[in-house]
Amino acid sequence: MPGARTHDLITVVTGVAIAPLTYTTNLALGISPELALRQTAIVVGAHLLSGIMFSPDLDLDSAIDNRWGVFYWLWRPYMWIVPHRSRLLSHGLVIPPLLRLLYFYWMIVGLLIGSAWVLGRVGIVLPNFHLVVSDAVLGTIMRHPRDTWSFLIGFITGSAAHSVADWLVTGGKHYLRRLGFEVRYNDAQHDQWRGYRRRARY
Ligand SMILES: [Zn+2]
Repeated sequence: MPGARTHDLITVVTGVAIAPLTYTTNLALGISPELALRQTAIVVGAHLLSGIMFSPDLDLDSAIDNRWGVFYWLWRPYMWIVPHRSRLLSHGLVIPPLLRLLYFYWMIVGLLIGSAWVLGRVGIVLPNFHLVVSDAVLGTIMRHPRDTWSFLIGFITGSAAHSVADWLVTGGKHYLRRLGFEVRYNDAQHDQWRGYRRRARY
């Protein structure tokens, strides 16, 4: 399986490749050049965000959750629950990236509810931030359906580029083995920055 840096490179290259495709598809759908440019920026932005920050490898104790800094623990339950490279939950084409998005949303809402509850116990009453966030997200979706679709499409392609790369490498190794070549798995690649950062963290 490719390591985090290789996956980043794949994410960027595929992100650049889908830009003209998105732009011309939007133009072909009869959208103005300015709006097509906006949709292209959203698709590419979501593609990069998905591949780099919301990578399928969040199902593993990997370099990816380090990128979330002190918020790395947001992804701990995901890592514990989801089996590594699960096609259904993390390394699939369409559903897993949407699941990660929903998971993240619910973690944020849960965090806001939890902290309001804790502070409420010591007499500090906060406004209902979780409702503010939910309303903002839902309002944005309702008011900008086209942007929302573009974002979701980019988010799905960003994750798909990762999963397809993993499948190709695994499939390629099986194929080479069948042909009699000796191929050694190098899973350490997947986790290449873990040791250093994780030791520093605790
Ligand atoms: Zn992977």
